[in-house]
Amino acid sequence: MVNTTGRDETAAVLGAGITGLTAAYFLQQYGYSPLVIERDNQVGGLAKTVNYNGFRFDLGGHRFLTSNADLERFVKNLLNHRYLVVNRTSNIYLNNRYIKYPLQPWNAFRHVGYRQSLTFLSDYILQKCKSNRDNVRSLEEWVVQRFGRSLYEVFFKGYSEKVWGLDCTQIDSDWIAQRIQNLNLAKAIKSAISKRTSKHYATLTDKFLYPTDGIGSITDNLRTRIDASNVKLEAEVQRISHNNHRITSIDYVQQGQRYRTAPEHIISTIPLSVMVKRLDPQPPTHIVGAANKLRSRDLVLVTLMVNRPQVSNDSWVYFPEKEVPFGRIHEPRNWSERMAPKGKTAVVTEHFCFRGDTTWSASNEQLVQRTVDSLCKLGFIQPDELIDAVVLRIANAYPLFEIGYREHCETVCGYLSQFENLNLAGRTGAFRYYNMDHAMLSGIEAVEQLAGEKIPLAQYGHANEEINSRPNAIHGESNEMCPDYSGVAP
Ligand SMILES: Cc1cc2nc3c(=O)[nH]c(=O)nc-3n(C[C@H](O)[C@H](O)[C@H](O)COP(=O)(O)OP(=O)(O)OC[C@H]3O[C@@H](n4cnc5c(N)ncnc54)[C@H](O)[C@@H]3O)c2cc1C
Repeated sequence: MVNTTGRDETAAVLGAGITGLTAAYFLQQYGYSPLVIERDNQVGGLAKTVNYNGFRFDLGGHRFLTSNADLERFVKNLLNHRYLVVNRTSNIYLNNRYIKYPLQPWNAFRHVGYRQSLTFLSDYILQKCKSNRDNVRSLEEWVVQRFGRSLYEVFFKGYSEKVWGLDCTQIDSDWIAQRIQNLNLAKAIKSAISKRTSKHYATLTDKFLYPTDGIGSITDNLRTRIDASNVKLEAEVQRISHNNHRITSIDYVQQGQRYRTAPEHIISTIPLSVMVKRLDPQPPTHIVGAANKLRSRDLVLVTLMVNRPQVSNDSWVYFPEKEVPFGRIHEPRNWSERMAPKGKTAVVTEHFCFRGDTTWSASNEQLVQRTVDSLCKLGFIQPDELIDAVVLRIANAYPLFEIGYREHCETVCGYLSQFENLNLAGRTGAFRYYNMDHAMLSGIEAVEQLAGEKIPLAQYGHANEEINSRPNAIHGESNEMCPDYSGVAP
């Protein structure tokens, strides 16, 4: 299915994350010559897998999950069926106890006791009586309205504020509304009673697809299907020149050398605010001002290599409490045994932060020490089991949906829409809270806009159909379907 349309136009794709590479793959299929420009020394962006002395880990465990069957088949086919179906078993650590995540009403009620459960229910009923959905703007209002104030305070507030670094009254409800859609306490209880109804909610997910060698296999496989000489690594976009509502050239620096390309089309997946600042001539001051207000939440990842086969059997463990320096941990070998050398494991800890704050600026030694101390205190590891540690700082991990972001986003995107040969796509590129599937679909949509036709994605999932019959390993123990109504986890 290569080059069917015989186009011979050039296109530049800025960024080789999962959006950029998906776009480049389909551009090539549609006869364009895509040039991919990526700052990092490997492809994948946020969805890459790091290989550190035989320990493999994602930048925070990435599960692949989609409701688009064609996309799922495309990804499975891309992976040549080297993937697992992993059962999700996660816990929240709260008040020295573990509680199942996603929250299951009975489990949550048991955890807090009879009195507190009654308060949850009465708060919820009270809220239902005075509910006015039109005025909901913040995350706090959204959750309180659907679950009642006391349940919000016990289960939602702490973790949300740890993830976002903002008070829940300052976080736009868009973020949570996208994630848990139409759910409220009554529906959650109903679905817990009648498990069959739980499949109606998009977030009720207890299994996910995971490549045997880590999530980065998706982009690694995309890369092998793109003309290798067209993927420029360690190449940073520095200037995006424009004239008369057209992008005229892109300047990038690769290993100290400056290059210029003048493509007919551009798909940008690099962070929106970075993209705006690279424009030459500079956009009007109010556009740059709006772009500057689109902030991101950043991440420090501290990964500890441990001389033990396993420290827990969870997919993730969440830590809402402030005293614990990280918000979430996962153990890659629980997702695929190939992620760690035999008899050893790694614990990946996510420390949410802002660039330049005390977490971001702490030395690697301090970060490792803090993490080791905390994991020892929590009983996950012993100090003498530590083999090695690695610290990574990840900028632009989460688009920050502060109240007011919508207006800034519209201002910036409205301005950029004037450029007739520019498409924005992806999570950082379009400032959208996309997971990988939506990021890929946004890359496909950008190509459809250039090509002026719909891509028949279903056809791309069938090329290796004969290997479909291979049994997939089912990893871990079977899990019950449960509503993801806490929805606070990124
Ligand atoms: C901790 C964490 C956990 C997640 N878990 C999941 C999950 O379980 N499931 C899921 O589906 N999604 C998950 N996601 C979301 C997922 O990572 C993203 O949706 C997806 O990777 C976004 O891809 P992208 O290509 O749009 O953006 P990015 O991956 O950010 O790609 C942008 C690329 O542009 C490059 N770039 C930036 N500036 C320049 C420049 N000046 N010049 C050249 N290149 C540049 C960057 O290096 C990067 O490679 C998670 C995200 C995080 C942070």
